[in-house]
Amino acid sequence: MKKKSKTQQKNTRPKRKSQERQPPTFAATARDLAEIGRSFYAKGWVMGTSGNFSALISREPVRLAITSTGLDKGKLAPAHFLEIDAHSKIVRGNGRPSAEALLHLAIVRARGAGAVLHTHSVWSTVLSGAHAGEGGVALEGYEMLKGLDGVKTHQHREWLPIVENSQDMEELSGRVSKTLEEQPRIHGFLLREHGLYTWGRDLQEARRHVEILEFLMEVVIRAHEFAGAT
Ligand SMILES: [Zn+2]
Repeated sequence: MKKKSKTQQKNTRPKRKSQERQPPTFAATARDLAEIGRSFYAKGWVMGTSGNFSALISREPVRLAITSTGLDKGKLAPAHFLEIDAHSKIVRGNGRPSAEALLHLAIVRARGAGAVLHTHSVWSTVLSGAHAGEGGVALEGYEMLKGLDGVKTHQHREWLPIVENSQDMEELSGRVSKTLEEQPRIHGFLLREHGLYTWGRDLQEARRHVEILEFLMEVVIRAHEFAGAT
């Protein structure tokens, strides 16, 4: 049998390029983030202009698609997103990044996260106030914990640290970075009487983490209320 020429060999190779994972474009990411924002609003987790959402477009150099500040989350559209660099400087889009963009960037740096989502639900506000003295809340024994990355059993004990709130984002991002460094196993944290921050390798994982943690915080509060009423 005749050996194939080099050109023929090249042509018969399986096409790998289409199978490779391409980095998401800014437009596609903004569309996905807007859809997530509207669905979180419908759940009551980001009322009014609260909360903010981001996802990486590029890791080297860091480019993050993030919500512009002061927008009604129930009407979020792809045009409401900005692209910022590692210093929170705008490289694309109109508007102003939220001051909390510094926290998103701190999480991306510390965790290598591909997406960061921040909600202001009733549950996270109440729970982070009630447990502030303990420095965090333990979530343990729930089947839903298995929705968190790497958790295999309901017996897992998830520690959700509570970080004191501040309006000084430079100072707060320093404390957040320290918390992430000291507690490498956490999947999220609470800002006291403010809200939840969680993240994921990609947007799907970050969204799942919000759903799981919001569910569990609601369960903890409702279980406590129920125990008090009986
Ligand atoms: Zn916030």
